[in-house]
Amino acid sequence: MFDTLSDRLTAALQTLTRKGRLSDADIDATAREIRIALLEADVALGVVKTFIARIKERAKGAEVSQALNPAQQVVKIVNEELVGILGGETRRLNLAKTPPTVIMLAGLQGAGKTTLAGKLAMWLKKQGHAPMLVACDLQRPNAVTQLQVVGERAGVVTFAPEPGNGVGDPVDVARRAIAEAKHAQHDVVVVDTAGRLGVDEELMKQAADIRDAVNPDEVLFVVDAMIGQDAVTTAEAFRDGVGFSGVVLTKLDGDARGGAALSVREVTGQPILFASNGEKLEDFDTFHPDRMASRILG
Ligand code: GDP
Repeated sequence: MFDTLSDRLTAALQTLTRKGRLSDADIDATAREIRIALLEADVALGVVKTFIARIKERAKGAEVSQALNPAQQVVKIVNEELVGILGGETRRLNLAKTPPTVIMLAGLQGAGKTTLAGKLAMWLKKQGHAPMLVACDLQRPNAVTQLQVVGERAGVVTFAPEPGNGVGDPVDVARRAIAEAKHAQHDVVVVDTAGRLGVDEELMKQAADIRDAVNPDEVLFVVDAMIGQDAVTTAEAFRDGVGFSGVVLTKLDGDARGGAALSVREVTGQPILFASNGEKLEDFDTFHPDRMASRILG
């Protein structure tokens, strides 16, 4: 991911480094190149517009004209603005003062929620927590078993409805899971919820009902970075239907152009907390806006 964007941005900025003083026309030309690169990377138009306006404003100001090396200063500005649209500071997970901390996962089917539940559980375990997974995706036939499998791999307990009791009520499962977590002294509970192929009202209502039942400390919207612009529409639907406090980007190992990663923070106003970059449980880390910006600028 980001290979093409990275090449295009580097090329646009390299044109500047060959010059000494920079005229407004030089900056406009570079800004145009950056704009095209971002649009081709599938970054949302509104995000591109704001970004370019900031770059132009700053690049034409005193911080560049008075710099010893104006081109380098522009590179620095682009870097800073990239870090900005990616969220600025790394945002840590919000832990409850009185355990258990409840983390609810929401997103479309196939976004990578179940896989993420396992990754998150393993990561939390490494941080010294005693997490418990909760299977509230009772729609997809294999979802419960899949969660139990990732739970086993991560070495954590999975709370699931007893087999043979029909489909079951995910809200009831969620409620009982919290009681069980308190009883068994699990300090973090990760609730996996059902996702449909497309956004639908029933799905939103179910997620909202689970949210109301468990009162989560974090609702993480899990989104496949490969779906490009659709990520933005989906994020808006989940923001309005369920609400979320943070974003997890999955499949960053794919060859998508990176637009989702660059748009979702600005569009939803919520920070990206984690990034998944592979199918294995270890392919997961806290999201660092500065590292991602450096990666994009090559
Ligand atoms: P859910 O429907 O949201 O629970 O999604 P799943 O966790 O079942 O994931 C859907 C598919 O995406 C599975 O085949 C996962 O192995 C795969 N997957 C999940 N996360 C990643 C990732 O970060 N990178 C890649 N390449 N595949 C992933």
